[in-house]
Amino acid sequence: EAAASCRILCPKSARDLLDSVDVFLFDCDGVIWKGDQLIDGVPAALQVLRSMGKNLAFVTNNSTKSRKQYVDKFLGLGLSISEEEIFSSSFAAAMFLKMNNFPRDKKVYAVGEDGILEEMALAGFTCLGGTKDGGKQIEFKTNFKFEHDENVGAVVVGLDKYINYYKIQYATLCIRENPGCLFIATNCDAVGNLTDLQEWPGAGSMVGAICGSTQSEPIVVGKPSPFLMNFLRERYISDPTSRMCMVGDRLDTDILFGLNAGCKTLLVLSGVTTLPALQDPANNIHPDYYTNTVSDIINSLAI
Ligand code: PLP
Ligand code: CA
Repeated sequence: EAAASCRILCPKSARDLLDSVDVFLFDCDGVIWKGDQLIDGVPAALQVLRSMGKNLAFVTNNSTKSRKQYVDKFLGLGLSISEEEIFSSSFAAAMFLKMNNFPRDKKVYAVGEDGILEEMALAGFTCLGGTKDGGKQIEFKTNFKFEHDENVGAVVVGLDKYINYYKIQYATLCIRENPGCLFIATNCDAVGNLTDLQEWPGAGSMVGAICGSTQSEPIVVGKPSPFLMNFLRERYISDPTSRMCMVGDRLDTDILFGLNAGCKTLLVLSGVTTLPALQDPANNIHPDYYTNTVSDIINSLAI
């Protein structure tokens, strides 16, 4: 049944896909690049899609960069992408607060990196924590009491390579003691490709630490949460979402995000998911199509 519901992208189905889709949503890591290496054939594929009048958007769960920093990363790989085409989980966290009328006199505490701090600043929110709390150590002396800001109204957690006990305590006290304090996760990915030779703990490990100490669950704003879809639909006025196609390498984030929104879905095998994993009877997330890389979407045009 799994095999029947997910088909390999053949030249005919690729042409059908191109005919029936106006907006291609691309996951980044494992689809556009792997760590800091561009995946073969991507620039040509994006160029052809643009020349066909397709809208492109890039939806990444990696919160360590802001949209502006992603523009620079794309440029460094030879791709010219505008900031309006980028939807990162760092941006999602800032937009979530904005949409929920987060009060300007409240502060955000970030267990995360510069991407979150930059997007919070751009959205007009005061953000504490981040990399500047990275070196902080706690001295457990007699009568020591850890102080935290009672005006923190949201804790935002994403990948933080500089996480420490200080930040965990800070975030924990905010969530447990500040009335109504929100606990937001940019994403819960188990692992990320910080280098191309192995996987590393993803934001899920930082989120897990704060779940453990607070005994509470976060609001997740990155994929597979439908939150970012509101912005994508607004920007591309794509109604129905069946004229959108989500292209990703992870079943439990990208493909689920697309399926939940009624988009067409294409799994590429250039990232973390293998064909046996896709076809494993235990997998219950079925993309419409699968193929090796993004370039297969346009290869059918040459035939
Ligand atoms: N989070 C981190 C820290 C990562 O390193 C990665 C990928 O490398 C991701 C998330 C997933 O990013 P994407 O959604 O672009 O695949
Ligand atoms: Ca990915």
